[in-house]
Amino acid sequence: MEFQRRGVMLVIASPSGAGKSSISRSLFQQDPNIRLSVSVTTRARRSDEVEGTHYYFVDVPTFNRMKAEGGLLESAEVHGNFYGTPRAKVEEQLAAGKDILFDVDYQGTLQLYEKCRADMVTVFILPPTIEELRARLERRAQDSVGTIEKRLRNARIELDHAGEYDYVIINRDLEQSVQNVRSILASARLKRERQLDLTSFVKDLQQQIDSL
Ligand code: 5GP
Repeated sequence: MEFQRRGVMLVIASPSGAGKSSISRSLFQQDPNIRLSVSVTTRARRSDEVEGTHYYFVDVPTFNRMKAEGGLLESAEVHGNFYGTPRAKVEEQLAAGKDILFDVDYQGTLQLYEKCRADMVTVFILPPTIEELRARLERRAQDSVGTIEKRLRNARIELDHAGEYDYVIINRDLEQSVQNVRSILASARLKRERQLDLTSFVKDLQQQIDSL
């Protein structure tokens, strides 16, 4: 039997270029119970990005209004743009037993810890080397050289926060990293606190023993 359970908030963070997006995509494709939290951002849309799939692209006044109205669970400025997690869907999906994958930076993670610690499990992805990080950023031809330098400097700041996460994975091999995240998620799903009908199941077993 499967217990009815509350969903897991899975936060995966890393310096940009460490492979987080590839890991998240693969995880999402392999596991039908995972939903993606689609953030709002004031950043310009990249040519391969789809509104409502990768982000909701909004202007600064709209972002500020959503924030002021309490519509964002967390929000932060990253690389000079604003990002935030829309609140509405999160609680609904957790209650429905869906796991939600969040792609937020360390500032967002800290805000979520304050509000939702019991629902969360957090993973930090490290690049194997800085050469590898730079190469991945350069392969992502979308960003100008200036942006790559900015993201590398930001990576340094982001690395300061690796110690704030529950789990750390060095991304040497994509498939292995995905398997590691799947193991972490599998354990989080089995936590006692998430098993909503544990008490009645145990009582039922005891009654069966009593009636033997
Ligand atoms: P990108 O512009 O490359 O899509 O994302 C840049 C950074 O913003 C990434 O580190 C990503 O984790 C972070 N980010 C994306 N969405 C959110 C969000 O909703 N909240 C926060 N705090 N960070 C976000």
